[in-house]
Amino acid sequence: MADLLPYGRQSITEDDVAAVTEVLRGDWLTTGPAVARFEADLAAHTGGVPAVSVTSGTAALHVAYAAAGVGQGDEVVCTPMTFVATAATAALRGATVVFADTSPETGNVDVDAVRAAITPRTKVVAAVDYAGHPAALDELAEVAHDAGALLLEDAAHSVGGSWRGRPVGSWADLTTFSFFPTKNLTTAEGGAVSCADQELLARAREFHNHGLVRDKVRQRFPDEGGWHQEVHEFGLNYRLPDVLCALGSSQLSRLPAFVVRRAELHARYDAGLADVDGVATPVTLPGAEPAWHLYPLRVLGGRRRELYEFLRERGIGVQVNYVPVYWHPVFADLGYRRGLCPGAERFYAEELSLPLWPGLADADVDRVVDEIRTFYR
Ligand SMILES: *Cc1c(COP(=O)(O)O)cnc(C)c1O
Repeated sequence: MADLLPYGRQSITEDDVAAVTEVLRGDWLTTGPAVARFEADLAAHTGGVPAVSVTSGTAALHVAYAAAGVGQGDEVVCTPMTFVATAATAALRGATVVFADTSPETGNVDVDAVRAAITPRTKVVAAVDYAGHPAALDELAEVAHDAGALLLEDAAHSVGGSWRGRPVGSWADLTTFSFFPTKNLTTAEGGAVSCADQELLARAREFHNHGLVRDKVRQRFPDEGGWHQEVHEFGLNYRLPDVLCALGSSQLSRLPAFVVRRAELHARYDAGLADVDGVATPVTLPGAEPAWHLYPLRVLGGRRRELYEFLRERGIGVQVNYVPVYWHPVFADLGYRRGLCPGAERFYAEELSLPLWPGLADADVDRVVDEIRTFYR
């Protein structure tokens, strides 16, 4: 049997390798000049909004909730159609996660459902740009702000995309990214938080570095000595090392090309599958310029598992993104019941992610399309 065609994978060039080895030969492995450079390079893709780099998308979410001051007694309104980390990191801060149902078209959180889920305790609304298609970021920001809450955009899928003419990273109060190898660009493990508000950004930066306060003006004991630094609120070490930031900057130089290639492959699937009865191809809403991370095919008539197994047997590494977050036993044990978000559950029941990554050949897409057509013949 042929090797499994993965649903996602990194694209690494000799330039990427050279960028990493150059840092390895230098003085800094951890926090050196490549970190600030990567953060500045990322800002060039988010409308100039500054960023803090961190060790993963999960760390980015944890940092963002910490910066927002999320804690015990607070509620976080969250989409269930995401990787568990979007909700888990809020729960780890002691917050209660309130799930709001998703729209049947995009799998993104529904604005009316968010509005209905908001209470006086809501501190953050957490949306995901599912598959790379931006959520209704303008409307979500308005709903969150009207309630005195912040909008957190989990943009793990969508770096390089835009909504209503403005790039992802420039809409929400806090935007988080993941640079895991299957995502739109990679630093191996890695992530970032983008944030326009200087105070929030400073809190994010502090939390990702043990909570250390180095600014003498803010220190309680500034006369302790030149070596002195102090912790006012607990933090963690989520610093992304120089070595990986160098890879990130090198990858970012190809982000526009990645987005274009992913869109071409996406369109090729659309064209190949448009007339197949039994599936629905992904929707692009007006105003969205997605940076497609996934190709989320919808398999109708209860045949998703059958098609999943058929394609897997033929060496096509399809995936399902995602089981509704509250189905995870950790949430079920807290009392979250199946049926809570019927839209998301239906979306999950039908969803099948086809292989999508920049190095995928047109012929690979054609083979996947042919196998799907064979399944339905
Ligand atoms: C990948 C992903 C994360 C977690 O990112 P890691 O870098 O793997 O920790 C969070 N949210 C979403 C939507 C993701 O796809």
